[in-house]
Amino acid sequence: AATTPLAERSPEELQAYLEEQREAYAALCERGLTLDLTRGKPSSAQLDLSDRLLSLPDGITDADGVDVRNYGGLTGLRELREMFAELLWVDPDQLVAGGSSSLTMMHDVLVQHLLHGGLDSPRPWKDEEKVTFVCPVPGYDRHFTMLASYGIEMVSVPMLADGPDVAAVEAIVRDDPSVKGMWVVPTYANPAGSVVTQEVASRLASMPAAASDFRIFWDNAYALHHLTADEAKSADILSLASAAGHPHRPIMFASTSKITYAGAGVAFLAASRENIAAYLGHQQFASIGPDKVNHLRHIQFFGSAQGVRDHMARHREILAPKFAAVDAALTAELDGLGIAEWTRPAGGYFVSLDVPDGCAARVVALAKAAGIALTPAGASFPHGQDPRDRNIRLAPSFPQLAEVETAMAGVATCVALAAAEQLTAVG
Ligand code: PMP
Repeated sequence: AATTPLAERSPEELQAYLEEQREAYAALCERGLTLDLTRGKPSSAQLDLSDRLLSLPDGITDADGVDVRNYGGLTGLRELREMFAELLWVDPDQLVAGGSSSLTMMHDVLVQHLLHGGLDSPRPWKDEEKVTFVCPVPGYDRHFTMLASYGIEMVSVPMLADGPDVAAVEAIVRDDPSVKGMWVVPTYANPAGSVVTQEVASRLASMPAAASDFRIFWDNAYALHHLTADEAKSADILSLASAAGHPHRPIMFASTSKITYAGAGVAFLAASRENIAAYLGHQQFASIGPDKVNHLRHIQFFGSAQGVRDHMARHREILAPKFAAVDAALTAELDGLGIAEWTRPAGGYFVSLDVPDGCAARVVALAKAAGIALTPAGASFPHGQDPRDRNIRLAPSFPQLAEVETAMAGVATCVALAAAEQLTAVG
């Protein structure tokens, strides 16, 4: 009976199931847990992997003899750009190694377009009546809050297993000149783990756009963050766009926040040579050069692109069991009941859990009352509003494995209870 979908059960059976879940939930609350699955932060065991950074750099000059202690070199150290150009499949000339946050680079690029426009803009975006971005959902909350902070309109499209619903994107971008950009997390997207296929990437790169200065903010935050041996290769968006006659459309971002230290790694931006020149043209007024001491430290720490890949394999050893624990807990409690679907990502930092429509906020509230902090329902949608109130983002990286197991068993109980409450509700 445990695997009969709830929707197929009789009222009496459902009532009995509800009582069981109430008891399980009461027992959960009695344990007095304090667990947190809210944010995709690396665990301290992962951060420990990079602690050799704390005693680097060794020496004060890079391979070109640059004294890294001094000002200058806005594009970043050459060796680091070459290393990450190989990993991100771009040309080193088209890659800038900057400060320690890629989110800041995205914000800088957005603000530059608002204040000045891009190299193919008829006018600064701030002088447009309206600026709209296409937002694949569920997506990364900080992308959406950044746009909201500038009053940019957001139009949602579904994020599917192979990337944004590209037919929906094509229709919006073709017809509406206020649509100036879109977010894409191409590899192991936050939160569903989707990987944009070559075909979808090629359609995004080549689709006609009503706005001449349409931009794809290609946030490859998880390019190297594999959880299985089946390592996704990110589509080469810069070449695809260039071949399609839209070389300035994509701007790629990445960082080592989840490779070395979160917020204290190195961030990267890649784009057409003209876009890079435009970016640096504005950036020269904001910086005399990035933290090259940190660049040199990262060059020496990794040694090579292969060194980065080897380092990521050690992250995977720590992370993969936690993701397996999420799947195991949800499967044990919810499989076959027809009340929940979740992703089994091959990389990245999140699991996306869908519960029955109208239940996500209730599940999060139940979990909170039981001492399990979850990301607020709706967080992965523009303005924090999930129109179906069904999506929950789970972030298992930070807690210890045993805590993930405990927390996820608790979450599964909350999902079962919320669904049973909804199915037995009168009227
Ligand atoms: N992009 C995505 C998709 C993220 O999930 C995150 C946060 N982990 C970031 C960007 C932030 O990156 P950074 O630390 O380089 O600012």
